[in-house]
Amino acid sequence: MIRLPFKDEEIGVLAHAIEVSEELISDFYKISTSEWKRYRYDIQSLKDLQEEEITDGAFAQIRRYLRKPGERMRGSEPGDFFKICVQDHVIRKAVERDAQIELLPLTTYVVIHELIHVVRFAKFIQRFVSTPAEQEQEEKRVHALTYQLLQGAAIGGLPAVLAAFTDCRTMENFLVD
Ligand SMILES: [Zn+2]
Repeated sequence: MIRLPFKDEEIGVLAHAIEVSEELISDFYKISTSEWKRYRYDIQSLKDLQEEEITDGAFAQIRRYLRKPGERMRGSEPGDFFKICVQDHVIRKAVERDAQIELLPLTTYVVIHELIHVVRFAKFIQRFVSTPAEQEQEEKRVHALTYQLLQGAAIGGLPAVLAAFTDCRTMENFLVD
């Protein structure tokens, strides 16, 4: 599989998707701007991923670090840091495969789904390391929440994405650092 990173225009679409997703999530979970800044995550696309953070089998990977890379450990530091690794080439392939699927609604679906995972890990609603059965249950819940959050959003092409991906079994992998 050829892994071409997003071009500038696609990076712009991803940035827009991230902005929309963060807004929808903070509204939904009633997280204030200052609280939101304390959530320890980062969203990176293919050009900024390390070898082990790349996959051809999912739209994203969530990597948990026990501390933020490059950050010095301090006694009072809060715990986990999550890196959402967007798989540009897998997302592009889905867009190219189906004329109904457009990049903005699909990247928004992926980003919002991954951010819901992160919020639920950060709030300790769900453990990062869990059994396959628990993971399966959690995946169903996160898909349902993604649907609920995006239902009323005014994003062109969203209904086709919701119809195609609400049961998707290959959203992400979880990596423990
Ligand atoms: Zn998921």
